[in-house]
Amino acid sequence: MEYDAWSDLRKVFDAAAEKTGSAIAYSRLRLERAKCLNRLNGLYEELGRASYFALVRSREPDTASLVEQITRKRRELEELCAGLGEGSTVTCPFCAGQNRSDSTYCADCGAPLT
Ligand SMILES: [Zn+2]
Repeated sequence: MEYDAWSDLRKVFDAAAEKTGSAIAYSRLRLERAKCLNRLNGLYEELGRASYFALVRSREPDTASLVEQITRKRRELEELCAGLGEGSTVTCPFCAGQNRSDSTYCADCGAPLT
C-alpha cells in the first residue's frame, strides 16, 4: 500500500520532469534559432557592406565566402525551425518568402514581418 503510493508519486514526478525537460529543450531550441537569425542578419549586413564598398571603389565584390556562409546559416535556420515544428506560416511582404507565423523577421530577406 505504502509502496504503491510512493510509486504513484514517483510517476507524477517523472511526468513533471519530462515535461520540464522538453520545455527546456524547446526554449533552448528557440534561443538557438534567435541566435542563428541574428547571425544571419549580421551576414546579410556584411554582404551589403561588402557590396557597397566594392561599388564605391568600382571593384568586383569579393562575396563568395559570405554567400556560402549565408547559405549555410539559412539551412541551419530551416532545421531549427523544423525542429520547433510550428506549422502555420506568414508570407513576407517584400520577397514572398514563407516564414513561421511567430517570426519577427523574414528568414529569406531579413525584412521585418509585421
Ligand atoms: Zn522576405
